[in-house]
Parts: sequence; structure tokens; C-alpha cells
Amino acid sequence: MIYLDGHSTTPLAPEVFEAMKPYFLERFGNASQGLHRYNWEARAGVDQARERVASALGVREREIVFTSGATEANHLALLGSVPALLASGKKRILSIRIEHASVLGALELMEERGCRVDWIRTDGAGRVDFEHLRSLMSDDVGLVSVALANHEIGTLQDLKRISDLARAHGSRVHTDAVQAFGKVRFTADSIGADLVTISSHKIRGPKGIGALYVRRKNPRIELEPLYLGGGQERGLRPGTPDTPAIVGFGLAAELSVQNLDREVERLSRLRDRLWFHLSGSIDGWVRNSPPDGLPNNLNLSIEGVDGAALFGRLKQVAVSNASACLNGVQDYSQVLTELGVGRDLARATMRFGLGTWNTETEIDAAATEIVEVVRDLRTMERRFAEQTGTFSMNGEKL
Ligand SMILES: *Cc1c(COP(=O)(O)O)cnc(C)c1O
Repeated sequence: MIYLDGHSTTPLAPEVFEAMKPYFLERFGNASQGLHRYNWEARAGVDQARERVASALGVREREIVFTSGATEANHLALLGSVPALLASGKKRILSIRIEHASVLGALELMEERGCRVDWIRTDGAGRVDFEHLRSLMSDDVGLVSVALANHEIGTLQDLKRISDLARAHGSRVHTDAVQAFGKVRFTADSIGADLVTISSHKIRGPKGIGALYVRRKNPRIELEPLYLGGGQERGLRPGTPDTPAIVGFGLAAELSVQNLDREVERLSRLRDRLWFHLSGSIDGWVRNSPPDGLPNNLNLSIEGVDGAALFGRLKQVAVSNASACLNGVQDYSQVLTELGVGRDLARATMRFGLGTWNTETEIDAAATEIVEVVRDLRTMERRFAEQTGTFSMNGEKL
């Protein structure tokens, strides 16, 4: 199998696994308590991880809040802002419709709690339309939330430009930076964000752990915790810290920024190699991802092929489709729908997410299999149409 689904999750790095191990069996103490060596050891692991994550984001340690992942971090950033927004009369929120489901879900809950969301228009590549943003911006906007990189088509936003405008109107700025973290060099200041969400399992760390950066100065961002308890994480995220996960996340964060420049170059080369191989072998490709997006992303639709048949026949390649079938319900990608990609094409869409684990040999083998499957399906389709006369397999009139 060739794993090309790195936007969904990534394989744990072996050195991260090694670093986590002692914290399961020997250093099992409670990192949020003192008194004895077990707790101190666990605490030391968490402290070091916090240092590493903070340094990767270019921020101070006390500005990092560990959460159960990016879904929770997004909810903490957004729902946690509601009391401050309501108190200051800045109840309007600006965002875009191609955000991750965890952001869209939290925004929906914010509306139920008295805020109002206005959607900034995006262009064909998913980029924020600045004219429209300017026309929506006013002093009653309390929060702007735009992902630094899109999770499906890899679009990178000019977040500094967005946040400069937002902050000039006294609005806080949140970004879901899960897909950008470790793929693009940035700090909280370089993008002008007050709240930044990241996740461990997208950068070869363990699942179930993420972090929210919360700006403490210029300006200090007030947040309300999602729930109450023992006061851990400066009261913003109570509960006993998951020490092994935090330790693994810390190392994964450090590694992902350490090798970033070299990796960006390597990943862009692999992505281009995949694209040239596919587009050079068969026609009918529609490239949904912009060329200047994430270096590890390639989002392609293929014309004249039934999506279900395509994914059903891929044996070697693990890749994501754009129309997830969740709990038996066909759900079309919100991102592709926003971009105006039709349903047949959306069904035959592959989202590639490359990573440090991929090699050139894998890319070539994956492309070869995909080309073979598409050719086979097209041949079958043609034979079927010849035999039956007028209709194709998916019922279209030819
Ligand atoms: C994966 C992902 C999330 C959710 O992260 P979890 O840590 O799995 O909760 C949120 N936002 C984006 C952009 C993602 O890609």
C-alpha cells in the first residue's frame, strides 16, 4: 500500500513513538500535581513539550493550551470567545464557507448563542476576496476566522492582510492552521493571529492531542473555557494532561519545523512528479488545487469516470475522495461545491496528501496504478456504451 492520505492523518514517526513510551509505564505521574517524583517527571515532559510547541509557533509557553485535538481547539477558540464578543457588543463574525467542519460547526453554535456569521466570498481557488472582506468589515466585527491552509485543496490565504484589516477594527483573529503547520513557515506574529489551532496527528504525532495558541499580550485575548474542573492549562482546559500524547506532540512539532525548508522542496517535487505523470498519461483531469498552495497537496477530479468504480478498484493507493460517505449518507465536499465542481466530478475526485514518509518510487507506482484503473474504466465504459447503444454506465445519455 502507498499512503497518500496525509490530510486525514499521518503515520506516527518512530522516534516520536520512542519518546512517548516511558511516559506510559515509568513516568506515569500526574503532570498537574507536585509532591513526588512521579508527578515531577510527568510535569517535566509536559513542560518540555510546551516549550517545543511554543517555539515552533514562535510564541511563549504560557500561550499554549493543550487540547484533545484541533476539533476541541477550534471550539475553545470560537465558542470560548462568545462571552467577550457579547459583552463588547461586537457580535459579528466573518469567515469563509470552505472552513473545516469543526470550524463550521462551532460557528453554527456561536450563532445559536447570539452571534451572527457573515461569509466572505472566495475566488475560484478558495482565496478570500479582499474587496468583499473590506465591505463586510466594521467595528461590530468581533472575530474573523479563516484557515491558513485549506484541508482539501491546499489554498494558502494571505492571513497577514486579513488580520491587519481585522485588527484595525478591533476584531480578534482565529486561524485553523492544522494543515499549514509543519508545511509552511509562519509564526503567530507573522500571520497576525490571536488564536491559532494546530493538531498533532497531522504532523506525525499521536492522535487525540492538539493545541490552541492564545495571545496574552497586545492584545490579551480573553476566553471562557468549554468546561470547568481542576484548573489545568491556566483554567482554559481542565483535566489531567495526557502526558505521553503531549510529549509525542512536542517532539513531532519540533521535528516538523526543523526540517521544514528541505521538506517543502522535496514535497513540492513529489507533488509535481505525481501531477506530471498523471496529466501526461491520460486526459480529462481537472486540477482543483491552486499551483501556489500547500506543497503536499494535490486535488484532482477526473472526467468520464465513475467515482465509486474508481475508488473501488484502487488496490495499492490509499487516497482520500472528496465526497465522504459518512454513516451511509452521501455527503458532497463543501469545498468543491463552493468552487462549483459538479456532483459527478466531485465523486471522481482524489485528494492527495503527501508527507515525509513518501518516496519517488511510491509516487510513480501510485500514478501508474491510477492511470491503469482510469484507462480500464474508460474502456469498459466505451464497450458498454457500444453494446447498449445510447447510455453510459452511470445513466448519462451519450
Ligand atoms: C484534521 C483537521 C482538524 C481536526 O483535527 P483533530 O485533531 O482530528 O480534531 C481540524 N481542522 C483541519 C483543517 C484539519 O485538517
